Amino acid sequence: MKFITDGMLGRLSRWLRIMGYDVEYMRDAADEELLRRAEEEGRTIITRDRDLYAMARKRGARAILLLEKDLFGQLARLVELGAINVDPSSESRCPICGSTLKEVDKGDVAGMVPEKSLALYDEFWKCENEACGKIYWMGSHWRRIEERLKALEDIKTPLAQRGRRDAE
Ligand SMILES: [Zn+2]
Repeated sequence: MKFITDGMLGRLSRWLRIMGYDVEYMRDAADEELLRRAEEEGRTIITRDRDLYAMARKRGARAILLLEKDLFGQLARLVELGAINVDPSSESRCPICGSTLKEVDKGDVAGMVPEKSLALYDEFWKCENEACGKIYWMGSHWRRIEERLKALEDIKTPLAQRGRRDAE
């Protein structure tokens, strides 16, 4: 599933990319431009804007309206709707630009990352978009992300249990 997000969802967009989703984040786009792009590229619109949501539905575009203000609530809602899956093994994308990441040799990033990180970690990834080229490694930032993702995965269990109870 590919997504397109509007200006109010920058943080969510970065997280969805880390989770491996193809996300086009349109910070300053007019509603019309965003709708056209979604239709052309077969993307599901995620928005907090009721007017945009109503417009999208009227045109038959796939759209999700998020009423939650906090990131975790937004992610949980997307999981609940079945729009995203939490799969910690899926390949991340660059949170900055959304391009795919490629694993690079430690030797190739010497001088490009802090000495301390180079000494502590062995796995490094580079954004494949040359204009961006940001380098990532399994530091504390990623561990925090992993923990949050695991927490998110846990919410699926109570939901499944609820479903079973309803069926009985
Ligand atoms: Zn990038």
